[in-house]
Amino acid sequence: MSRTMDMSGSLPARARVRVPPVARELSGSWLRRLALAYGLPVQDLLRGVLSSPHPVKITGTPHSALEVYLNALARKALADFSGIPLPMLHRLLPVLTPTHPRLTDDHGPQAAWYSPARGWVTACPPCTGRAWTAGRPVLVYPGPAGPICQRHQRWLLADEHKPVSLPLRALPEVLAAHRRHLSLVRRVPQADRVVALAAAVVWSWQVQRWTGESIWRQRTAILAKVTGSSATAAMAHALIAYPETINVAALISNPRWQQRLCETATTRGLQAALHLALEDAGRSIGRSWLADWLTARVRTQRRASGEHDLLLWWLRRLTSPHCPPGTVLWDVPAGMTRPVVYGDRISFLTESPVRPTLEDARAASLTGGWEPCGPLPLAETPRVPWLYGSSP
Ligand SMILES: [Zn+2]
Repeated sequence: MSRTMDMSGSLPARARVRVPPVARELSGSWLRRLALAYGLPVQDLLRGVLSSPHPVKITGTPHSALEVYLNALARKALADFSGIPLPMLHRLLPVLTPTHPRLTDDHGPQAAWYSPARGWVTACPPCTGRAWTAGRPVLVYPGPAGPICQRHQRWLLADEHKPVSLPLRALPEVLAAHRRHLSLVRRVPQADRVVALAAAVVWSWQVQRWTGESIWRQRTAILAKVTGSSATAAMAHALIAYPETINVAALISNPRWQQRLCETATTRGLQAALHLALEDAGRSIGRSWLADWLTARVRTQRRASGEHDLLLWWLRRLTSPHCPPGTVLWDVPAGMTRPVVYGDRISFLTESPVRPTLEDARAASLTGGWEPCGPLPLAETPRVPWLYGSSP
């Protein structure tokens, strides 16, 4: 269907095409789909939607970024144009409010094309098939429990040009972990921060490159086979350590377990509490040897690059009588986080050259998408293309 603008640059109301947004869709993704329905370049559609007696300001272009941010007047104009009530648009499009810090609500409608607020994925094709058009997929921000569609058993990847997802039939432990993740999100108020801390703990073990360890190696081989990438390109993906991350998150957020650790630290000392924590963590991730192995490693080996004692750091906070309750327990110190950028993780996990390995991973759509790093404030969102898939 094709529509043209009238002489004033406004889109005639009777020409409206109902293309509803998908829940959690990138505003830029929806506007691109709307523009396709009108047969217009998306920037022309945006100018038509925002046309107003006041000066209209649009920063950047759809070629420079995937997401579009709007000020209050522009949001109202979009609601009026689409016929979708503003509160409903706010519910469906996560970046619509609040107004981006680099825009103002003072001087007419404003829009800006910037990088997405956080990792995005292509929506599950069977769930959103009717909204898809060739070369124009639906891009969404994953929900609080990550990028998995339980109904269709898929891990959703990030590619702005085509639908990409991983079938999880061969990885039932990932689906089971996602069910536990959903439960965690329902039960624990700061589940995203808990998962980010757990991911950093598991990362501190991953960088040790456990030789003879079979679980991660088998999972990596399956991921490489499904995506057609090399194992070295696949090993840095979030899926590899996802089940362990969720199991550790469930453990450290368990109040009764925390109480047991505090009692052990009081009666037998911090090292005894640490050994207990590692024993339980090892059992929870199917590595019952973890506590003894790590204790021996501390005595006999040099630390690997990126290795640290995050669990000990967390335990000190948990058992300290001076530790205030609340978020401080889940803050991961700088330098102990799981690296957000795919290329950075590759450099810790393999001796292979980073650039060709990263290219291999990028060709398999592995470098973008969901990461267990907790919420990123807009101002701190890294501006790196590979974090957000194959965006320009
Ligand atoms: Zn689905």
